Amino acid sequence: HATKRTMADHLRKYESLFTLTPQRMRMIVEAFTETLDLGLAKPNQIVPMIPTWVFGWPTGKETGDYLSLDLGGTNLRVCLVTLQGDGKFEITQTKYRLTEEQKQDDGQKLFDFCAECLQTFIESNTGDGPGELKPGQPLPLGFTFSYPCSQDRIDHGELIRWTKGFGAPNTEGQDVAGMLRKSLEKYQLRVQLTALINDTTGTLIASHYVNPRTKVAVIFGTGCNAAYMERVKSIPKIADRGIDMDAEMGINCEWGAFDSFEHEHLPRTKYDAIVDDSSNKPGEQAFEKLISGRYLGEICRLVICELIDEGVLFLGQNTYKLEKPYCFDTAFLSLMESDPTDELLMIIGIFTHFFALETTLAERQFFRALAKLISRRAARLSSCGIAAIVSKMGYLDEGCSVGADGSLYNKYPGFADRIHEGLVDIFGDKGRNIVTHHAEDGSGVGSAIIAAMTKARR
Ligand code: ADP
Repeated sequence: HATKRTMADHLRKYESLFTLTPQRMRMIVEAFTETLDLGLAKPNQIVPMIPTWVFGWPTGKETGDYLSLDLGGTNLRVCLVTLQGDGKFEITQTKYRLTEEQKQDDGQKLFDFCAECLQTFIESNTGDGPGELKPGQPLPLGFTFSYPCSQDRIDHGELIRWTKGFGAPNTEGQDVAGMLRKSLEKYQLRVQLTALINDTTGTLIASHYVNPRTKVAVIFGTGCNAAYMERVKSIPKIADRGIDMDAEMGINCEWGAFDSFEHEHLPRTKYDAIVDDSSNKPGEQAFEKLISGRYLGEICRLVICELIDEGVLFLGQNTYKLEKPYCFDTAFLSLMESDPTDELLMIIGIFTHFFALETTLAERQFFRALAKLISRRAARLSSCGIAAIVSKMGYLDEGCSVGADGSLYNKYPGFADRIHEGLVDIFGDKGRNIVTHHAEDGSGVGSAIIAAMTKARR
């Protein structure tokens, strides 16, 4: 069968483009480790290794009621977290949708909206029942703000730059904790902002609270980032701050920036170069652009479009719907890989329903294989980042757990297995000592635990 042979030939080409050998992975790990150390040594590096001012692990015995506000990307979430000690907690939450206008409107207005949502939440959760807030009870608040901020202390942080499509003016360079405080005062809320954290840091602390073997946290969502606990004596850039050298501090790596601008270490295909060139920030977030949910579907689409141009796919059909940038969501890759039928009916559905295109079985098998190549590369690259932290911290022999969250990790079939295979390819059998697990609700619970830890330190 001629078509089938042709598709198989094409697939071999993409296999060689998207496959990472163990040897190549080990080279990436080495460069990654050096980059992490550089970020700890000097300020303002490409991978900034931001000190979080979260000192050490929670004891697991933290208790009390905490509010948390999570400004992440698509939604604003308000949670009431009741820490019960012994690694247990209860959580009540409400999501409020953010409009595109709010993301671009004046920054103080955005924080006013946060305060307004908090007010509504507090009013509807106050009462005499169990799990309710008592009238007049003062409330500590943890604020999860998942954009790079430089921090000098836990309850303060200057926004370095907006990412993920936000652009609210009068916010970059400002103390976002101070801006939120101003809005809390305006609405006269009985709330005290005690901690400003990043979602990776929250996930790190929340995972450790539940599972003390957790040493690292990684987010696989719209973006990709990691946090871990570092020895203060290994963070030379804050050596003059008078901090106890035997203490430990959480580090928000902002590792999505690895290999930005120089493009020396990561294997980029021409499709990756197109994604980068046509993005709103070319050159930036080079590692993230190969891994995260925002980009994997687009990489796949670009390969498909190349084969359309070469006259290989969809002959005689109108493909205009597939030609729109970012029309092919990463969730489609997930769906294609999880199709259980021999005929690949799910893939028929995707192409007819969303793109008005007929597919042959050989094409569908090719699309599925392509999705696997792209997501496998993403998973294996993240193994390299995890491996860099693990080997630098000496966790390989005793082993550790990695708390992970985000749709790509939670919903993509086999993504976790591929990370684990990658770790074995890098470390050999010892790689099995490193295991990832889904961190439940890290950003909400984490900020509550950190608020509790902060209170205890005062
Ligand atoms: P965020 O990072 O914004 O907090 P998520 O963790 O949900 O939110 O990540 C959103 C990203 O996950 C989007 O880029 C989307 O394309 C991708 N995504 C959504 N559903 C799936 C899925 N089923 N499989 C893989 N990726 C998905």
